[in-house]
Amino acid sequence: MGQPRVLISGASVAGPVLAYWLHRFGFRPTVVERTAELRAGGGGHAVDLFGPALDVMDWMGVGDQVERARTTTEVIALVRPGRPWVEVPAEMLSEGVSERHIEIMRGDLARIVFDATRNQVEYVFGDSITALQDEGGAVRATFEHAGPRHFDLVVGADGLHSITRRLIFGPEERFSRFLGGYLAVFTVPNHLALENRMIGLSVPGRTAWLYPVGDRTHARAGFLWRAPRLHDYDRHDLDAQRRLLHELYGDLGWEVPRLLAGLDRADDLYMDSITQIVMPTWTGGRVALVGDAGYCPGPAVGGGTSLAVIGAYLLASELVRAGGDPTDGFAAYQRALEPVVRHSRSIGPAAIDLVIPATRRRIWILAQAMRLLPRLPLVVRRRITTGGGSASAMLDEARLTPPDLLPRLTGLSGR
Ligand SMILES: Cc1cc2nc3c(=O)[nH]c(=O)nc-3n(C[C@H](O)[C@H](O)[C@H](O)COP(=O)(O)OP(=O)(O)OC[C@H]3O[C@@H](n4cnc5c(N)ncnc54)[C@H](O)[C@@H]3O)c2cc1C
Repeated sequence: MGQPRVLISGASVAGPVLAYWLHRFGFRPTVVERTAELRAGGGGHAVDLFGPALDVMDWMGVGDQVERARTTTEVIALVRPGRPWVEVPAEMLSEGVSERHIEIMRGDLARIVFDATRNQVEYVFGDSITALQDEGGAVRATFEHAGPRHFDLVVGADGLHSITRRLIFGPEERFSRFLGGYLAVFTVPNHLALENRMIGLSVPGRTAWLYPVGDRTHARAGFLWRAPRLHDYDRHDLDAQRRLLHELYGDLGWEVPRLLAGLDRADDLYMDSITQIVMPTWTGGRVALVGDAGYCPGPAVGGGTSLAVIGAYLLASELVRAGGDPTDGFAAYQRALEPVVRHSRSIGPAAIDLVIPATRRRIWILAQAMRLLPRLPLVVRRRITTGGGSASAMLDEARLTPPDLLPRLTGLSGR
């Protein structure tokens, strides 16, 4: 008799949250992460935690830490060449989605959820699964470095380009739906001495922005742009990505030349396509996917971090409710999350129109909307900022059972 052993691939957001809950419910999780150490500091843009995802943070006892680490962006300013800036209070852009909302740097969130689990959960950094073989009663996992091991269950929390998904369900191309945009984020000196303000330049099909982070000596800079098809570059070659960004942004003025110079010195560039993962099912046999690996709604446009947190909690709750049985537990996870995922997918295309306006007219409409928003009554503002209703509908669908109402495993057989 023993606790069921669960291998989790990926230690960013979904992986540690899942590990926390599985451990608390009586499982024995092991997390394997490809990078040599936690990518906690640099790497990534601010992400959003809405209502139910914040409930999960509270139940983990890290709600206060998340609150303290929230970003300090209070104002968002739109810069248009030759025109006056337009500003809007940042909170007004998300208040329709949920009354509770915290914006936090992805790395800070990753650090908080990792720290909440590091003493109870086995973490293996600098390694990756290479093969998974379902042997009936258990899964045999082989790794790039460590020797083979058996687990009762395996969960891929390894992001948009998940190895677990590829090994069990097939090549990425089969499930990826490119939404026609890209995102690049990196750290630069805060040369404009920005305090609580995010400023962004918008020209048709391209945006560039920056906002201060941490002690405000540095800023996070980013580019979001439209692309008719996927760019042809090696995802692991950062120099190739830098060259591409110079080609795409080299003709722009404003702060862009300084940002490009900063890009060449930055060591934390994160660049990816805005792509959704659309799969008929996120589970198969003894293997499941959670977070971006199974249902990425598109980086920067669909609430993927909240979805990853909600998905991880639901997976752990349904597994413990099923007494650790993957057939019933995974089926219930799929059923519970299906409507949430469906809604999250509908946000991306509209969000791209908003964050990367394609034409001068669209930029003008955005500027007018930003001007108007503060003058509207709260109820009207809320209606406008729900992402066509789908963002708040997504959260409404996330019905989470508080942990106190869930059972604990009382000992199951494990090999
Ligand atoms: C460095 C970084 C920067 C990001 N920046 C942004 C951003 O600016 N804007 C945005 O919208 N989203 C960003 N994301 C994605 C965002 O974190 C996720 O959309 C969201 O938080 C869901 O999290 P996730 O845990 O499902 O996936 P992710 O956060 O993508 O995490 C996946 C984890 O799996 C690990 N991994 C990948 N392959 C393997 C493997 N073979 N073996 C073991 N581990 C593996 C990765 O290193 C990573 O730690 C970023 C992710 C990372 C890792």
